Amino acid sequence: MTGPAVGSANTAPRAGFQPGADLGRPPAPTDLALPVVGAKLLLTADGTVGRVADLPADTPWVPLGTLDGVPAWATDLATADGIPGRARGWASLAAEVPEPLATLAGRALAVVTWRRTHRWCGACRAELTDQPGETARRCPDCGLYVPMQLSTAVLVAITRPGPAGRADELLLVRHATGPTGLWALVAGFVEAGETLESAVHREVGEEVGLSVDQLAYFGSQPWAISGPGVLLAGFTARAADPRAEPVVDGRELTRAHWFGLDALPAELPPAYSISRWLIDATVTAGRR
Ligand SMILES: [Zn+2]
Repeated sequence: MTGPAVGSANTAPRAGFQPGADLGRPPAPTDLALPVVGAKLLLTADGTVGRVADLPADTPWVPLGTLDGVPAWATDLATADGIPGRARGWASLAAEVPEPLATLAGRALAVVTWRRTHRWCGACRAELTDQPGETARRCPDCGLYVPMQLSTAVLVAITRPGPAGRADELLLVRHATGPTGLWALVAGFVEAGETLESAVHREVGEEVGLSVDQLAYFGSQPWAISGPGVLLAGFTARAADPRAEPVVDGRELTRAHWFGLDALPAELPPAYSISRWLIDATVTAGRR
């Protein structure tokens, strides 16, 4: 369960963001600092990530990993009073900063939120302690081991042939809650006992009443908006019956519609989301 140690003598620092819970040494003043206030990250006044030295010396730090070889730490602040800076939500941050920093910020929010909601032992009510070197806690009384767990969700770009001589069509949906103004992809959480693939088939059946085939894995993205520890897994698929029309359940979804790949709506998911990467890749593949 132990994450990779960083900073070993014979390994060069790795580029980008490397998650880790064992940074091999205590926080140093010039290390990256990601204080979390409520559900937001506190950045410096000029909008960059702060340093450990910016906060009081007795701040309790939680290891996150490294960004371009520099150790990064999070802390849970009850208030941002007295600390200069600007609190930012993950979505607005991820829309602006490079991907490795967005991922680091997402991990800071996920780990801090998880620790906040995993303070007491669920079996015997004792206060949990940190498991050194791991993103995990343990009960000192009954020994219960509480690793941070991920919720996995799947999303799928479903296409079908367009009318004769026209581009392929992509199924887009509107959700009843969350970002209701966007045309999105069919998505949902994976149930215990389910594979990623069977979750796609179940969600497509439940949400729009369709069957799909040619299911293919596309990629994944850690996601920090829907709650702590969400991993999105994206797929592409073809409608099993090219003439079948979607039927929305009216509960999770309010609308579902086939759009020509050359006539997609403007209200699409943001550029930093795997939903958008899937849609863009589907459009590109449709041009070939
Ligand atoms: Zn216990």
